[in-house]
Amino acid sequence: MIRANENYSKLQASYLFSDIAKRVNEYQKNHPDEKVIRLGIGDVTMALAPAVIKGFHEGVDEMANDASFRGYGPEQGYAFLRELIADNDFKTRGADIDPDEIFVSDGAKCDSANFQELFAKDVKVAIPDPVYPVYLDTNVMAGRTGRFEDGRYQGVVYMDCLKENGFLPALPKEDADLIYLCFPNNPTGTTATKEQLKTWVDYAREKKALILFDAAYESFIRDETLPRTIYEIRGAKEVAVEFRSFSKTAGFTGTRCGFTVVPKECMIYDANGGKISLHAMWNRRHTTKFNGVSYPVQKAAAAVYSTEGQAQIKEQIDYYLNNAALIRNTVESLGFEYYGGDNSPYIWIDGDGRDSWAFFDMLLNKASLVCTPGAGFGKCGTDYIRISAFNSLENVTEAMDRLKTAV
Ligand code: PLP
Repeated sequence: MIRANENYSKLQASYLFSDIAKRVNEYQKNHPDEKVIRLGIGDVTMALAPAVIKGFHEGVDEMANDASFRGYGPEQGYAFLRELIADNDFKTRGADIDPDEIFVSDGAKCDSANFQELFAKDVKVAIPDPVYPVYLDTNVMAGRTGRFEDGRYQGVVYMDCLKENGFLPALPKEDADLIYLCFPNNPTGTTATKEQLKTWVDYAREKKALILFDAAYESFIRDETLPRTIYEIRGAKEVAVEFRSFSKTAGFTGTRCGFTVVPKECMIYDANGGKISLHAMWNRRHTTKFNGVSYPVQKAAAAVYSTEGQAQIKEQIDYYLNNAALIRNTVESLGFEYYGGDNSPYIWIDGDGRDSWAFFDMLLNKASLVCTPGAGFGKCGTDYIRISAFNSLENVTEAMDRLKTAV
């Protein structure tokens, strides 16, 4: 008899985006002439930059000739891309990351979801609340949690991110082995300073724990004092893995390319406390279960690092950050408390006593605006909504004009 992995039955059905779609469809049916503006989903709206398209075309053209055709490539990614990443994203920040510590992949979602399979089933997992749901759900699937009760899974160390702590979780009271952190954060839009990250690196070193650091939004950081990678913190190479993505950096959400950094110093432990190389384990996993990102996509990703590529993606991110500033200024002028939006594409807005779905319904019904209710990201999100800056300036301007008249 083929038996199911019954951990899947513990998962809470993700009603968030289907509930949003249902409410928006109903609204649109009753108001067919209203133009609904969507500031909910975290997907980019701008076309790939010209330099990226040129790199992509070159890669495709090479595939059209026997002499330059490429079949299976290295599972870890082509050296030309890994070297560009190491030089541009890490060495320039004083982080000594080697190209062979970089594993190119089809994105940060898959890597952040898959990485947990390297750890024992009984490790203690610490997860922020609110959170990008992938970290939690994949640990549920793996059987690292108990049942879902009162809005939370048994056995997980939840780290509350509240305005009282600046949405930066406190160190857990009970020992944690595997810690998920994400900065700039989705959904709260907040960032962490070097000193704040150092607290976590020191904790992980003391407890022999591991940090999984999601830096998918690092390219939105404009404040030069903020770290762009956790490896700017001394000692982080021993205790942290970093996930990166070209999705928000260069509009690759549909093209698919990201990478994970697994430093060679990073050790995990067997039952007797013996050291095991995390790099060797991930290399084994990646080469066994993944067959590499397509050559044209890696050529397109490499073009992100050309002089033109860098200028063009900066312009795109500046465009979204300008939208974010417009949203921030508007909600501030309306008297809302808000967070994020200056080194991040997300603005996290306090509903001022409104539950997040009530706030969502009010914006939909009074302004034809779609946001994301914070409840979808965890118990600590129930009093907030997330507004995303990924849209055209025209739409964001119109959305903010409508917001002013709606509240
Ligand atoms: N990590 C975070 C925090 C995200 O918000 C997202 C996408 O929204 C991802 C990872 C997914 O990135 P990718 O498109 O590279 O899979």
